[in-house]
Amino acid sequence: MYINGRAHGPWHQTTTCQLHMREYKDGDTIVVEPWRANSFPVIKDLVVDRAAFDRIIQAGGYVSVNTGNAVDANSLPIEKQKADESFAAASCIGCGACVAACPNASAMLFVSAKVSHLALLPQGDPERKIRAMSMVDQMDKEGFGSCTNIGACEAECPKGISLENIARLNREYLGAVFSSSKQEA
Ligand code: SF4
Repeated sequence: MYINGRAHGPWHQTTTCQLHMREYKDGDTIVVEPWRANSFPVIKDLVVDRAAFDRIIQAGGYVSVNTGNAVDANSLPIEKQKADESFAAASCIGCGACVAACPNASAMLFVSAKVSHLALLPQGDPERKIRAMSMVDQMDKEGFGSCTNIGACEAECPKGISLENIARLNREYLGAVFSSSKQEA
């Protein structure tokens, strides 16, 4: 929710539920509002419907897993830097503050975190191209706005999701579109 005009309130990288009342003084006025974005319709009071995010995840935020015994963890080495970047992207909690903070109501930070998390790992490779295209397609269908590099999303994100993920999503998406149009030609 919006607290005194800031997504999740005034603390850096802190969700509403981690914001302590002891930070406020007696007599302070606290204005609490729901997220404001057309793609998150208000259900009532402070409750918004964030199902648009769920539909974006359904469009491509998964990996194929063969049934059978679990694979030995050491059989698939992953570069430390990539594992760290993937883990950082995976820390997105889908709260929607990035959308609410963005003047365009863009969902690019959320989608880029979900695409990056899987694109950086070998497990995410089989659906890599279709994932980027399907999730961006669903994001557009849900009516989220375009990214114009304002950066309010990163500034207000309680999990510190970096704008670098948006750059990665753009590369993933353009690479997927380019290779699918080459295959069609
Ligand atoms: S990117 Fe940040 S602000 Fe956006 S949904 Fe994920 S955790 Fe919330």
